[in-house]
Amino acid sequence: MLGDWSKHCETNPFSVSTSITPDCELAGYKWSTTIDRNSILYWYDDFYVVPSSNAHKTPSTWLDLYRSRQWLTFNDFLIWQQSCWLVAPLKSCSCPIGMKQYSCKHSVGLAILFNLYQVSDKTRIQPLGKRKTKGRPKKVSTALKL
Ligand SMILES: [Zn+2]
Repeated sequence: MLGDWSKHCETNPFSVSTSITPDCELAGYKWSTTIDRNSILYWYDDFYVVPSSNAHKTPSTWLDLYRSRQWLTFNDFLIWQQSCWLVAPLKSCSCPIGMKQYSCKHSVGLAILFNLYQVSDKTRIQPLGKRKTKGRPKKVSTALKL
């Protein structure tokens, strides 16, 4: 039993990166096509500040507050916390999904924007919606029916 366990570790090493699910890839791709690139703020190293969907603060204001840590009330802190996310492409994100699953639409989306991640063709096609169905179009009734 110990031998099997030992050999299993050799073929399946400890994971140092998270897997990206097709749903996460699709969400990241959609996010990367809708985000205003001017709103993405580079901070340092791999870290960027991106606005959340219900942002009450701009990324630069968010970063100033992050550095100063001067929130007047706890409610101010909560509003600040949910306004922007601190993202490292394909590594981490401070949004709730990123904190739980280690990969989210922000980290994947930024990687797509920076050409660090290649989107599969299946994902690229999906947001385009349902295409015209095969075959002849439905028979249209005559306009002047008397
Ligand atoms: Zn995120």
